[in-house]
Amino acid sequence: MPNSSMAATGPPGSAAAAARWTAADTEPVTCCVCGLDGVPVYRLPPFAVVRCPVCELVFVSPRLSSPALQRLYDEPGYFEGGVYGAQSALSPAMVLQRTWTAGRLAAIGRLRRPPGRLLEIGSGYGLFLAAARTAGYDVRGVELSRTGADHSRAWLGLDVFCGQLADAPSEPADVVCFWDTLEHVPDPLQFLREVGLRLAPGGVFALSVPYFSSVPARLLRSRWWTLKPEQHIWHFTPATLRLVAARAGLVVTSVIASPLRQANAGRSDSLVAVGRALPRNPSDGHGRHVAAEPAGGSP
Ligand SMILES: [Zn+2]
Repeated sequence: MPNSSMAATGPPGSAAAAARWTAADTEPVTCCVCGLDGVPVYRLPPFAVVRCPVCELVFVSPRLSSPALQRLYDEPGYFEGGVYGAQSALSPAMVLQRTWTAGRLAAIGRLRRPPGRLLEIGSGYGLFLAAARTAGYDVRGVELSRTGADHSRAWLGLDVFCGQLADAPSEPADVVCFWDTLEHVPDPLQFLREVGLRLAPGGVFALSVPYFSSVPARLLRSRWWTLKPEQHIWHFTPATLRLVAARAGLVVTSVIASPLRQANAGRSDSLVAVGRALPRNPSDGHGRHVAAEPAGGSP
Protein backbone atom coordinates (compact mmCIF):
# COMPACT_ATOMS: atom_id res chain seq x y z
CA MET A 1 0.00 0.00 0.00
CA PRO A 2 1.93 3.07 -1.15
CA ASN A 3 1.72 6.00 1.19
CA SER A 4 0.41 8.52 -1.30
CA SER A 5 -0.72 10.74 1.55
CA MET A 6 2.82 11.08 2.87
CA ALA A 7 3.58 14.72 2.14
CA ALA A 8 7.01 15.81 1.05
CA THR A 9 6.82 19.29 2.44
CA GLY A 10 5.93 20.95 5.72
CA PRO A 11 7.52 21.76 9.05
CA PRO A 12 9.20 19.10 11.18
CA GLY A 13 6.73 17.18 13.34
CA SER A 14 6.14 18.05 16.94
CA ALA A 15 8.27 16.21 19.46
CA ALA A 16 5.40 16.58 21.92
CA ALA A 17 3.10 14.29 19.93
CA ALA A 18 3.16 11.51 22.53
CA ALA A 19 0.62 13.13 24.83
CA ARG A 20 -2.16 13.22 22.28
CA TRP A 21 -3.14 9.52 22.17
CA THR A 22 -6.02 8.02 24.10
CA ALA A 23 -7.20 4.46 24.67
CA ALA A 24 -9.45 4.85 21.60
CA ASP A 25 -6.30 5.02 19.43
CA THR A 26 -4.96 1.71 20.74
CA GLU A 27 -5.50 -2.01 20.27
CA PRO A 28 -4.32 -5.06 22.24
CA VAL A 29 -1.95 -7.53 20.56
CA THR A 30 -0.53 -10.92 21.48
CA CYS A 31 2.97 -12.38 21.19
CA CYS A 32 3.81 -12.91 17.51
CA VAL A 33 5.55 -16.20 18.37
CA CYS A 34 3.21 -17.76 20.97
CA GLY A 35 -0.10 -15.96 20.43
CA LEU A 36 -0.29 -15.26 24.18
CA ASP A 37 -1.14 -12.09 26.08
CA GLY A 38 1.87 -10.37 27.64
CA VAL A 39 2.42 -9.67 31.34
CA PRO A 40 2.86 -5.93 32.11
CA VAL A 41 6.41 -4.67 32.59
CA TYR A 42 5.76 -0.91 32.39
CA ARG A 43 2.44 0.89 32.22
CA LEU A 44 2.65 4.03 30.08
CA PRO A 45 -1.02 4.94 29.51
CA PRO A 46 -2.62 4.50 27.08
CA PHE A 47 0.19 2.01 26.26
CA ALA A 48 1.81 -0.82 28.21
CA VAL A 49 5.09 -2.65 27.68
CA VAL A 50 4.48 -6.36 28.29
CA ARG A 51 6.48 -9.60 28.21
CA CYS A 52 5.32 -12.93 26.82
CA PRO A 53 5.11 -15.40 29.73
CA VAL A 54 6.56 -18.21 27.59
CA CYS A 55 9.16 -16.90 25.13
CA GLU A 56 9.91 -13.61 27.00
CA LEU A 57 9.55 -11.47 23.88
CA VAL A 58 8.71 -7.91 24.99
CA PHE A 59 6.14 -5.90 23.11
CA VAL A 60 3.74 -2.99 23.42
CA SER A 61 0.11 -3.86 24.15
CA PRO A 62 -2.13 -1.95 23.96
CA ARG A 63 -0.34 -0.24 21.11
CA LEU A 64 -1.38 2.30 18.49
CA SER A 65 -4.00 0.87 16.15
CA SER A 66 -3.11 0.63 12.46
CA PRO A 67 -5.03 3.81 11.52
CA ALA A 68 -3.45 5.78 14.37
CA LEU A 69 0.03 4.50 13.46
CA GLN A 70 -0.53 5.47 9.84
CA ARG A 71 -1.41 9.00 10.99
CA LEU A 72 1.84 9.16 12.94
CA TYR A 73 4.00 7.95 10.03
CA ASP A 74 2.19 10.20 7.55
CA GLU A 75 3.22 13.29 9.50
CA PRO A 76 5.48 15.31 7.22
CA GLY A 77 8.15 15.66 9.89
CA TYR A 78 8.39 12.03 10.95
CA PHE A 79 11.40 11.06 8.85
CA GLU A 80 13.02 14.50 8.88
CA GLY A 81 15.97 15.44 11.03
CA GLY A 82 18.12 13.22 13.22
CA VAL A 83 19.87 10.42 11.41
CA TYR A 84 17.11 10.28 8.79
CA GLY A 85 17.43 13.80 7.44
CA ALA A 86 19.65 15.22 4.75
CA GLN A 87 22.60 16.50 6.72
CA SER A 88 25.83 18.36 6.28
CA ALA A 89 28.56 15.90 5.37
CA LEU A 90 30.50 16.86 8.49
CA SER A 91 27.64 16.79 10.99
CA PRO A 92 28.09 14.32 13.87
CA ALA A 93 25.04 12.35 12.65
CA MET A 94 26.58 11.93 9.20
CA VAL A 95 29.97 10.93 10.57
CA LEU A 96 28.20 8.26 12.64
CA GLN A 97 26.17 7.14 9.62
CA ARG A 98 29.33 6.66 7.59
CA THR A 99 31.00 4.78 10.43
CA TRP A 100 28.02 2.42 10.84
CA THR A 101 27.77 1.94 7.09
CA ALA A 102 31.43 0.95 6.75
CA GLY A 103 31.22 -1.45 9.72
CA ARG A 104 27.97 -3.00 8.55
CA LEU A 105 29.23 -3.50 4.99
CA ALA A 106 32.31 -5.19 6.46
CA ALA A 107 30.11 -7.47 8.61
CA ILE A 108 27.95 -8.37 5.59
CA GLY A 109 31.01 -8.83 3.40
CA ARG A 110 32.40 -11.47 5.76
CA LEU A 111 29.36 -13.63 4.86
CA ARG A 112 28.65 -12.48 1.32
CA ARG A 113 31.28 -10.57 -0.62
CA PRO A 114 30.26 -8.33 -3.54
CA PRO A 115 29.22 -8.65 -6.29
CA GLY A 116 25.67 -9.63 -5.39
CA ARG A 117 22.16 -8.28 -5.24
CA LEU A 118 21.45 -6.25 -2.09
CA LEU A 119 17.99 -5.15 -0.95
CA GLU A 120 17.57 -2.63 1.86
CA ILE A 121 14.14 -2.44 3.48
CA GLY A 122 13.60 1.05 4.88
CA SER A 123 16.32 2.67 2.82
CA GLY A 124 15.61 6.23 4.05
CA TYR A 125 17.60 8.77 2.09
CA GLY A 126 19.66 6.09 0.37
CA LEU A 127 22.98 6.70 2.10
CA PHE A 128 23.60 3.04 2.94
CA LEU A 129 22.48 1.88 -0.51
CA ALA A 130 24.83 4.34 -2.19
CA ALA A 131 27.75 3.05 -0.10
CA ALA A 132 26.81 -0.57 -0.82
CA ARG A 133 26.74 0.23 -4.54
CA THR A 134 30.22 1.73 -4.25
CA ALA A 135 31.32 -1.46 -2.47
CA GLY A 136 30.22 -3.46 -5.51
CA TYR A 137 26.69 -4.66 -4.75
CA ASP A 138 23.78 -4.30 -7.19
CA VAL A 139 21.39 -2.39 -4.91
CA ARG A 140 17.67 -1.83 -4.55
CA GLY A 141 15.62 -0.22 -1.79
CA VAL A 142 12.11 -0.17 -0.37
CA GLU A 143 11.08 2.95 1.52
CA LEU A 144 7.73 4.08 2.95
CA SER A 145 8.63 7.76 3.05
CA ARG A 146 8.06 9.46 -0.27
CA THR A 147 10.57 12.14 0.70
CA GLY A 148 13.27 9.54 1.27
CA ALA A 149 12.46 7.55 -1.87
CA ASP A 150 12.38 10.66 -4.06
CA HIS A 151 15.68 11.90 -2.65
CA SER A 152 17.30 8.49 -3.26
CA ARG A 153 16.17 8.39 -6.87
CA ALA A 154 16.78 12.01 -7.81
CA TRP A 155 20.05 12.70 -6.02
CA LEU A 156 21.67 9.29 -5.87
CA GLY A 157 20.18 7.57 -8.93
CA LEU A 158 19.06 4.62 -6.83
CA ASP A 159 16.36 2.05 -7.62
CA VAL A 160 13.97 2.59 -4.69
CA PHE A 161 10.38 1.35 -4.49
CA CYS A 162 8.13 3.65 -2.45
CA GLY A 163 5.62 1.61 -0.45
CA GLN A 164 5.21 -1.48 1.70
CA LEU A 165 7.58 -4.43 1.36
CA ALA A 166 4.70 -6.77 0.40
CA ASP A 167 4.00 -4.63 -2.68
CA ALA A 168 7.64 -4.26 -3.79
CA PRO A 169 9.16 -6.26 -6.66
CA SER A 170 10.10 -9.65 -5.27
CA GLU A 171 13.15 -10.80 -7.24
CA PRO A 172 15.57 -12.62 -4.91
CA ALA A 173 18.47 -10.85 -3.25
CA ASP A 174 21.78 -12.19 -1.96
CA VAL A 175 21.71 -9.71 0.91
CA VAL A 176 18.63 -8.26 2.62
CA CYS A 177 19.23 -5.62 5.27
CA PHE A 178 16.99 -3.50 7.46
CA TRP A 179 18.42 -1.02 9.94
CA ASP A 180 16.32 0.07 12.94
CA THR A 181 13.20 -1.34 11.34
CA LEU A 182 12.23 -4.59 13.09
CA GLU A 183 11.09 -2.79 16.27
CA HIS A 184 8.52 -0.87 14.18
CA VAL A 185 6.82 -3.58 12.12
CA PRO A 186 3.33 -4.87 13.03
CA ASP A 187 4.47 -8.53 13.15
CA PRO A 188 8.22 -9.24 13.24
CA LEU A 189 7.77 -12.97 12.62
CA GLN A 190 5.80 -12.30 9.45
CA PHE A 191 8.33 -9.63 8.43
CA LEU A 192 11.28 -11.99 8.90
CA ARG A 193 9.47 -14.69 6.93
CA GLU A 194 9.05 -12.13 4.14
CA VAL A 195 12.79 -11.43 4.36
CA GLY A 196 13.50 -15.15 4.10
CA LEU A 197 11.32 -15.49 1.02
CA ARG A 198 13.28 -12.70 -0.68
CA LEU A 199 16.67 -14.26 0.04
CA ALA A 200 18.34 -16.20 -2.74
CA PRO A 201 19.77 -19.61 -1.73
CA GLY A 202 22.74 -18.97 0.53
CA GLY A 203 21.53 -15.41 1.10
CA VAL A 204 22.52 -13.24 4.03
CA PHE A 205 20.49 -10.86 6.16
CA ALA A 206 21.66 -8.02 8.37
CA LEU A 207 19.77 -5.82 10.79
CA SER A 208 20.11 -3.39 13.63
CA VAL A 209 17.63 -3.08 16.48
CA PRO A 210 17.47 -1.59 19.98
CA TYR A 211 17.68 -4.27 22.66
CA PHE A 212 15.82 -4.65 25.90
CA SER A 213 18.65 -6.31 27.80
CA SER A 214 21.06 -3.42 27.08
CA VAL A 215 22.54 -1.52 30.03
CA PRO A 216 20.55 1.68 29.33
CA ALA A 217 17.29 -0.27 29.02
CA ARG A 218 17.90 -2.13 32.27
CA LEU A 219 19.10 0.91 34.24
CA LEU A 220 16.61 3.48 32.97
CA ARG A 221 13.61 1.12 32.87
CA SER A 222 10.51 3.06 31.77
CA ARG A 223 12.67 6.18 31.24
CA TRP A 224 14.84 4.43 28.60
CA TRP A 225 15.04 6.93 25.77
CA THR A 226 14.47 4.26 23.12
CA LEU A 227 11.32 2.82 24.70
CA LYS A 228 9.09 5.12 22.55
CA PRO A 229 5.92 3.02 22.90
CA GLU A 230 4.18 4.72 19.98
CA GLN A 231 6.72 3.48 17.43
CA HIS A 232 8.92 0.83 19.04
CA ILE A 233 6.33 -1.90 19.45
CA TRP A 234 8.61 -4.96 19.75
CA HIS A 235 11.67 -5.18 22.01
CA PHE A 236 14.22 -7.93 21.56
CA THR A 237 17.11 -9.42 23.45
CA PRO A 238 19.78 -11.44 21.63
CA ALA A 239 17.88 -14.57 22.77
CA THR A 240 14.41 -13.52 21.61
CA LEU A 241 15.81 -12.16 18.35
CA ARG A 242 17.38 -15.57 17.65
CA LEU A 243 14.07 -17.25 18.52
CA VAL A 244 11.93 -15.14 16.19
CA ALA A 245 14.54 -15.40 13.42
CA ALA A 246 14.66 -19.19 13.78
CA ARG A 247 10.87 -19.42 13.57
CA ALA A 248 11.16 -17.48 10.30
CA GLY A 249 13.78 -19.87 8.92
CA LEU A 250 16.75 -17.60 9.56
CA VAL A 251 19.82 -18.24 11.68
CA VAL A 252 21.61 -15.37 13.42
CA THR A 253 25.31 -16.18 13.12
CA SER A 254 26.76 -13.05 14.71
CA VAL A 255 25.56 -10.35 17.12
CA ILE A 256 27.53 -7.12 17.50
CA ALA A 257 26.41 -5.32 20.66
CA SER A 258 29.53 -3.39 21.66
CA PRO A 259 29.41 0.37 21.07
CA LEU A 260 33.13 0.15 20.34
CA ARG A 261 32.59 -1.89 17.18
CA GLN A 262 32.38 0.13 13.98
CA ALA A 263 29.07 -1.40 12.89
CA ASN A 264 27.44 -0.24 16.14
CA ALA A 265 29.67 2.74 17.00
CA GLY A 266 28.46 4.75 19.98
CA ARG A 267 25.23 2.77 20.32
CA SER A 268 24.97 1.46 23.86
CA ASP A 269 21.40 0.22 23.53
CA SER A 270 21.33 -1.28 20.04
CA LEU A 271 22.84 -4.31 18.35
CA VAL A 272 23.67 -5.40 14.84
CA ALA A 273 22.92 -8.98 13.83
CA VAL A 274 23.86 -10.86 10.68
CA GLY A 275 22.95 -14.34 9.55
CA ARG A 276 21.79 -16.65 6.82
CA ALA A 277 18.61 -18.27 5.62
CA LEU A 278 18.33 -21.91 6.62
CA PRO A 279 18.07 -24.26 3.62
CA ARG A 280 14.55 -24.69 2.33
CA ASN A 281 12.88 -28.02 1.84
CA PRO A 282 13.35 -28.61 -1.90
CA SER A 283 10.18 -30.72 -2.06
CA ASP A 284 8.03 -27.86 -0.76
CA GLY A 285 7.08 -25.60 -3.64
CA HIS A 286 5.83 -22.82 -1.38
CA GLY A 287 9.22 -21.53 -0.36
CA ARG A 288 8.56 -22.45 3.25
CA HIS A 289 11.43 -23.18 5.55
CA VAL A 290 11.33 -26.65 7.05
CA ALA A 291 13.10 -25.50 10.18
CA ALA A 292 10.52 -22.74 10.72
CA GLU A 293 7.66 -25.14 11.34
CA PRO A 294 7.00 -25.96 15.00
CA ALA A 295 6.05 -29.49 16.03
CA GLY A 296 2.40 -28.57 16.60
CA GLY A 297 1.86 -26.75 13.31
CA SER A 298 2.48 -23.12 12.45
CA PRO A 299 0.45 -20.29 14.02
ZN1 LIG B 1 5.90 -15.58 23.16
